Amino acid sequence: MKIKIVYDNTAYRDDMKADWGFSAYIEDFKLLFDTGARGDILLSNMEKMSIDANDIKEIFISHGHWDHTGGLGELLNQNNELPIYVPFSYKPKAKNVVSIKEATKIHDNIFSTGELAGIEQSMVILDGKKAIVMVGCSHPGVRRILEEARKFGEPYALIGGLHGFNEYEVLEPLEMIVPTHCTQHKKEIKELYPEKYMEGGAGRIIEI
Ligand SMILES: [Zn+2]
Ligand SMILES: [Zn+2]
Repeated sequence: MKIKIVYDNTAYRDDMKADWGFSAYIEDFKLLFDTGARGDILLSNMEKMSIDANDIKEIFISHGHWDHTGGLGELLNQNNELPIYVPFSYKPKAKNVVSIKEATKIHDNIFSTGELAGIEQSMVILDGKKAIVMVGCSHPGVRRILEEARKFGEPYALIGGLHGFNEYEVLEPLEMIVPTHCTQHKKEIKELYPEKYMEGGAGRIIEI
């Protein structure tokens, strides 16, 4: 599984632009998870990582906050047929919107936790028995998200924004933690789990 972080508050590579927001491209499924805050930055960062926007087959939006949905318009301008999986509370103006309320299988090996706490869904990618959990801001709380994700498989990796999360023991069973975007306690997570921790940032390629 190859996951490319294309939009993040920090840049992993010098040529990539850092900006507040988050987006990652799941290459194996040609699926874009969230779209960052600005379409121009999203597209130019994608280009630098050799991702052709025309190759994107589907978009998963974690929640309706601007720093996750800002690039959506630009992508739909290029292809307004793209299926967009959104949590129930977010209603984008688009042709092919799939609104998700309950935990759902989207298609083979891609699942949604369903909308949690009335705001956000997380995505679970199954790679064999490994469940990779992708999060936007973790507004419903990491503990809750991992509990819901466990319905589909034992969480192996957690990738995305963790906000003010500090119940560090919840991360113990994971093999890989990539805290990005709004995560406030990266330093503590890195100190507690140095062998599981991976630095995020725009330009980072995660291979699992
Ligand atoms: Zn955010
Ligand atoms: Zn948010």
